[in-house]
Amino acid sequence: MEWKRQKLVELLELEGIVKTPQVKRALLSVPREEFVPVEYRDEAYEDHPLPIPEGQTISAPHMCAIMCEAAAIEKGDSVLEVGTGSGYHAALCAEIVSPTGEKIEGIVLTLEIIKCLASFALENLRRSGYYDRVNIVVADGSAGAPIRQGFRFKKIIVTAAAPATPSPLIEQLDEEGVMVIPVGSRWHQLLLSIKKKGGEVRTKPVTYCVFVALRGRYGYE
Ligand code: SAH
Repeated sequence: MEWKRQKLVELLELEGIVKTPQVKRALLSVPREEFVPVEYRDEAYEDHPLPIPEGQTISAPHMCAIMCEAAAIEKGDSVLEVGTGSGYHAALCAEIVSPTGEKIEGIVLTLEIIKCLASFALENLRRSGYYDRVNIVVADGSAGAPIRQGFRFKKIIVTAAAPATPSPLIEQLDEEGVMVIPVGSRWHQLLLSIKKKGGEVRTKPVTYCVFVALRGRYGYE
């Protein structure tokens, strides 16, 4: 498995998708096989999405890398993820924000709307050693994180497709913060990078993508 993981990361680096040492280290450290259902373990290091319970999917490794790079997640950051799913992407964020073997730093808060997926992710994080560095909350993340008023996240990643960028998430993004979010139709979206600077919100396209639908108040249903 470790050999396969290394091969995949080498390829992603060669393709120019993995750009920074922290994203490379995270992909090399987090065992993706622990986040996929047992019947898909053999495919854990193939670069495509895989099914997880409740008709949802774990994103392809290249998409996780693109999002971490686009959000420029760094050590010590406070990160909000909307859409925990398997917990894999949250573990990657935790490895960047608070590297294994070092003092726990930063925050990774991940929100999942489907309760049994939150349990699935919790179990995966426990097995892979990221339990202490990721906080999972069952909530409708489209409406923002249930946190004290005024708290802002340095980085926000949304891992489900939204019809438009939910305003509560823009509100919870730090000045100088970055959010990455797939926006578009249910079947095809553009991954956007949204930056706040001096009270202004600037949006840049990153790449085309296909994510499962965001639910909840600012989702499709
Ligand atoms: N990041 C995940 C993949 C996410 S798939 C991973 O690494 O495996 C998208 C997830 O978003 C699904 O689990 C889905 O249930 C969840 N989701 C959809 N709408 C949501 C909402 N409004 N709030 C929180 N989670 C949501």
